[in-house]
Amino acid sequence: MLVTGGSRGIGRAITERFVASGHRVAATYRSGDVPDGALPVRCELTDPEQVEQAFATVEAELGPVEVLVANAGITRDTLLLRMSETDFTDVVETNLTASFRLAKRASRSMMRARFGRMVFISSVVGQLGSAGQVNYAASKAGLVGVARSITRELGGRGITANVVAPGFIETDMTAGLSETQVAEYRSRIPAARLGAVQEVAAVVEFLAGDAAGYVSGAIIPVDGGLGMGH
Ligand code: NDP
Repeated sequence: MLVTGGSRGIGRAITERFVASGHRVAATYRSGDVPDGALPVRCELTDPEQVEQAFATVEAELGPVEVLVANAGITRDTLLLRMSETDFTDVVETNLTASFRLAKRASRSMMRARFGRMVFISSVVGQLGSAGQVNYAASKAGLVGVARSITRELGGRGITANVVAPGFIETDMTAGLSETQVAEYRSRIPAARLGAVQEVAAVVEFLAGDAAGYVSGAIIPVDGGLGMGH
């Protein structure tokens, strides 16, 4: 299996969980390292050649990718009027276009095997919207269209495609928030706390496993209730 963005945060926790369960896991990174037991694959996901090379490496070392977790993502928050074209396209390139690229490449061997699991890490913001995150919310909502279209195209070939939508999870991405912001968010979360990376990893493991063979095109929230009703 292949996890993108395995060097930090949620991707790191997903990688650790799959390694601990005995899977053969490759994890991409740009900087830093990946957890022990995983095959490290350096890859800039916005570069199609590097993605192709990453798959070639994984296939040579571990065999065809049966489970793809498209996790890597970035934010570049600013209000609509101040958002540059680059702020928008950079976020879409990383969060949405790269996920399409990975899914397309992974689907080849999945179709041959008549088995595959794709999990796209979206965000509660994809359905809820968020001031200052037009770029990010658009990219994360786009993943729903990707997963659901793949489900319709490839569902008959033993391939599932699902979306996990985390709420506020304690990682580098949320470490930059001020205490006031965190308190404000917490007041809106029914669970009254931020989530842990392991709580997202557990849901991804379920979706990748045999028990979830009939779950496809779903959006699974891991958000303490924050996005309910959307
Ligand atoms: P982090 O910022 O902690 O880690 C992001 C990871 O993605 C890093 O490994 C980073 O690599 C990698 N990455 C980013 N851009 C690229 C790129 N162009 N090419 C290759 N790798 C790249 O993020 P989180 O763990 O917090 O988030 C993981 C996912 O979960 C993201 O998609 C995010 O949008 C989503 N999410 C996070 C939430 C949260 O509260 N944290 C909430 C909802 C969704 P490098 O280390 O080299 O930068």
